[in-house]
Amino acid sequence: MPKIGSNLPLKPLLFGLAVLLIGPAGAQQPAPPQRSDTALTAIAGPDRIVVLPAKTYLNGYVGYGDPPRRERRRNEPPAPAPANPAPAPTSTWSKESGPGPVTFADAAAPVTTATFSTPGAYVLKLTADNGQARATSTLRVAVDTPPPATQLSAVYTKKYRIDSPLWSLRAKSLIVNWIPHCIDQINRPDLQQGPGGIDNFVEAGKKLAGQPHGNHKGYVFSNAWVHQTVEAISIALMIDPQGDPDIIKAQAKMRASLEDWIPKILAAQESDGYLQTAFTLPRVDGKGVVNPGPFNRWERRGDHEGYVAGYFLESALNHYLMTDKKDARLYNAAKKLADCWAGNIGPAPKREWSDGHQEMEQALVRFGRFVNDMEGKGKGDRYIQLSKFLLDCRKNGGEYDQSHLPVVQQYEAVGHAVRAVYSYSGMADVAVEIHDADYHSAVRSLWDNIVNKKYYVTGGVGSGETSEGFGLNYSLRQNAYCESCSSCGLIFLQYKMNMAYGDGKYADLYEETIYNALLGSTDLEGKNFYYQNPLDSGPPRYPWHACPCCVGNIPRTLLMLPTWMYAKTAESLYVNLFIGSTATVEGVGGTDVEMIQVTDYPWNGKVSITVNPKKAGNFSVRIRVPDRSVSTLYASSPEANGITSISINGASITPPVEKGYAVISRTWKAGDKIDLVLPLKVQRVRGINAIAATQGRVALRFGPLVYNIEQVDQDITQVLGPDSPLTAEWKGDLLGGVMVIKGVFSGGGTMTAIPNYVRNNRGPVPDPATLTLPPGGGRPAPRPPTSIVWIKEK
Ligand SMILES: [Zn+2]
Repeated sequence: MPKIGSNLPLKPLLFGLAVLLIGPAGAQQPAPPQRSDTALTAIAGPDRIVVLPAKTYLNGYVGYGDPPRRERRRNEPPAPAPANPAPAPTSTWSKESGPGPVTFADAAAPVTTATFSTPGAYVLKLTADNGQARATSTLRVAVDTPPPATQLSAVYTKKYRIDSPLWSLRAKSLIVNWIPHCIDQINRPDLQQGPGGIDNFVEAGKKLAGQPHGNHKGYVFSNAWVHQTVEAISIALMIDPQGDPDIIKAQAKMRASLEDWIPKILAAQESDGYLQTAFTLPRVDGKGVVNPGPFNRWERRGDHEGYVAGYFLESALNHYLMTDKKDARLYNAAKKLADCWAGNIGPAPKREWSDGHQEMEQALVRFGRFVNDMEGKGKGDRYIQLSKFLLDCRKNGGEYDQSHLPVVQQYEAVGHAVRAVYSYSGMADVAVEIHDADYHSAVRSLWDNIVNKKYYVTGGVGSGETSEGFGLNYSLRQNAYCESCSSCGLIFLQYKMNMAYGDGKYADLYEETIYNALLGSTDLEGKNFYYQNPLDSGPPRYPWHACPCCVGNIPRTLLMLPTWMYAKTAESLYVNLFIGSTATVEGVGGTDVEMIQVTDYPWNGKVSITVNPKKAGNFSVRIRVPDRSVSTLYASSPEANGITSISINGASITPPVEKGYAVISRTWKAGDKIDLVLPLKVQRVRGINAIAATQGRVALRFGPLVYNIEQVDQDITQVLGPDSPLTAEWKGDLLGGVMVIKGVFSGGGTMTAIPNYVRNNRGPVPDPATLTLPPGGGRPAPRPPTSIVWIKEK
């Protein structure tokens, strides 16, 4: 390697100065400098958060052109190799600013670590110098104190009742139409698109019984949507039908399906607990060639073994709860499967392993906690340890599946969005269970990067500029990917952050994702769904997909309302969502507490909560104080945060607010009633300057609901002036009953906006013969949007 200053025949022009600037969060970002492949480059790396006493891992780059191993956006050509070898630059890390000392393990190495002792905001600088030119790059580090020692506990979804104008309809469409449709598809042996349902388990059972059998059908991971649907069924069966004959009929079909399926699933489990029919049965490749196997386990990261196994664990725990712990068939089989994994994977002499899709990582902690709760502390710990081991094995791969760096060194959300949020969700679990400051630091950083740089106003993620994945910071095109599964995964991540930090802002965010990005993934009737949820949309939903990964994920997530509504510690009951319902929170203040919410929210801000402890007890009820401006990517006006008024048994109170919750501490007795009013206003939302895609455009919001304007109501290319008055109007006969937003376009025409979740439910029904479903995982053919979130403002 030539030394700097060595006498090479290079022109000074070749050493253009490349500086990557990183401004304050939410501030306007300069366009990345034009860089030639021969330009001297320093890249400090992403901004991040350090949770003390962790260190931060610096993976800086100094050199020429792009660093190696960076995955490119679609259609982006790779940088050519430098035409002339250039002198190797030196690198130096330094502290640019910050309240305390920073210690670099090796300030002259681009890849090193830094440690801090004083909380606060720091800027670190990486300088590249080749003797003729310098390039610098900075990154910001927010150093924070550790999270509370006690995390919140999950409130399991058990039998509950929904009494909500919005949610009763949404749940009914999932229960009466969507889940039965998934059952029918899974039962079909002739399914051409996204095949491989219960028949795979039947054939695997035959093989294990030594009988003639067929081949595995469909994707290697096709067992996944069977397990997801079992979980969705289990949750749907916990919902009180309240005498509705359609729901009762659908629930009867679900019970019959479980009784039919469970023996078939169990028969496909191998004697040592392993369960994935693509490994038990012969497989057929794309050319129709049969590979009889046997297939070695845990050798090919693309075979989705963890993806399938994780969904099985999750389905089993909700089935166990649904049966009041009386039917342990799936639960015991899930322990057997988890034990099979734990027996084979782990520190030597066991094997290292990481799956290409991180569902097992989040499922193992959920399952481990569940086993601890059911069978006593410590019984599920091996599953939690295995989750951390799987995460720690991720390295030496690419950004696509988040194995480009050890997970604790990842500070920017990259790659396939579903894999990413599942990975981060598992990391959040491990952080709180194992009290690992490196994990806390990474997951807080990844969360910050998503929410403040890569987050859609609908609460969706994944611009689709990388394969089904995240794009660059602030690159948030309207034609987003926002896969329904990534919305589910983001809800899991936000929920786990809420549990870890006891901070209401995480519930503010998952409320946003539930009500927008996810709630609109099925149509009003529950007969069709979206794999992708772009903000400019038009093509109708479809009944199935070549890759039906979302079909069970959507209902299992949306129907788990008690878990999203409440969290708890021994002394506090947290109210996270406002939904008319009756559910029980066990083990608070030494008793079980029935919570009855009476509200038409989000159509009306009045919420009445009756607190019914089995016996009177001292505890705190912590009510989320909504903040609709958590993401710094968007600014909204007028402000609609906070709680307008709150009273107990008719007497007005002003409770203290801690970490986004109004805290009401007293001796609670049955019948105590909290009345509160949440401010619901029509808001204009604008993206910060750094988001090119939203410039000159405005989005509308009412409470947690983001709105769309649709071609069926108006010409959607019209301009809505910034001063045009906007009003909310209840339309009981429209789209099942919705609050619309009315305004006047600059040209004088009336503007009608409808909630994003009911988008594309009207207009001519397309002829099914002309409906081409998106090919496996691909995008639908582009059509002009007929429904948009971001309205022209000038
Ligand atoms: Zn999906």
